[in-house]
Amino acid sequence: MTRITIAQALSQAASVLATSSESAHVDAEALLLHCLGKPRSFIYAWPERQLSDEQHKQLQQMVARRAEGVPVAHIVGEREFWSLPFIVNDSTLIPRPDTEILVETALNLPLAENAAVLDLGTGTGAIALALAHERRQWQMTAVDNVSGAVELAKANRHNLQLPQVEILQSDWFAELSGRKFQLIVSNPPYIEESDEHLALGDVRFEPRSALTSGQQGFAALFHIAEHAREYLCTGGYLLLEHGFTQGKRLREKLNELGYMQVATVRDFGSNERCTLGFWPG
Ligand code: GLN
Repeated sequence: MTRITIAQALSQAASVLATSSESAHVDAEALLLHCLGKPRSFIYAWPERQLSDEQHKQLQQMVARRAEGVPVAHIVGEREFWSLPFIVNDSTLIPRPDTEILVETALNLPLAENAAVLDLGTGTGAIALALAHERRQWQMTAVDNVSGAVELAKANRHNLQLPQVEILQSDWFAELSGRKFQLIVSNPPYIEESDEHLALGDVRFEPRSALTSGQQGFAALFHIAEHAREYLCTGGYLLLEHGFTQGKRLREKLNELGYMQVATVRDFGSNERCTLGFWPG
């Protein structure tokens, strides 16, 4: 195998990916960094350094998988969320930057120092573990109905050294009877089953159970909103992520269900992304 430099490897990988990925350069960079096991600055500090044969071969294999559409996060087995590293696999959703607005909104709520907080459908554990990382005194519970996701969230809890987070397998509230929380958050599946975007990009490799829901994508959101009333303390909050066209109908639903101060927050792409409701009890 001919030895190639870091700069050559980067441009070769980016050009192979140019036809299949909209983010070819960023993808190439992420895959190369993974092969090298170095931080991003390294490839720009040492563009002339050569890859070992092993690294070159690994890069070519990873680029080939990416060219087939496999998400970068699945290839490297990791994705950053809230500046924390999360292990990722195909048992659940890859954490999205859009969801950071939910974390930020939760952190801005006027909650007790040791508030009991629940994350429903935690997946990798991204939301619950990011919140627990910022609020060490919160009593955080995270549930998911998929056993692979529960295992993954536990692995992330271990890596991020947040042993205080309780992680359970539960079909939404099923295993939580009699418990009360000051805040319930969720990024449930909310994509309509017939949405054409499901045939494009990373979502093709993510489980449908983490993405789609009946009733035009509202089934899980409505189920959670309805049942959360039984599990919220008086004066507690419900905070739900949803699709950018779902805000209005979800606000109407929360109002119908008796939530107050219902408001939607936009994400960093200025799309409506999370809706908050106050539970008067
Ligand atoms: N925001 C994700 C997407 O559009 C979907 C996340 C979800 O269904 N909870 O790809």
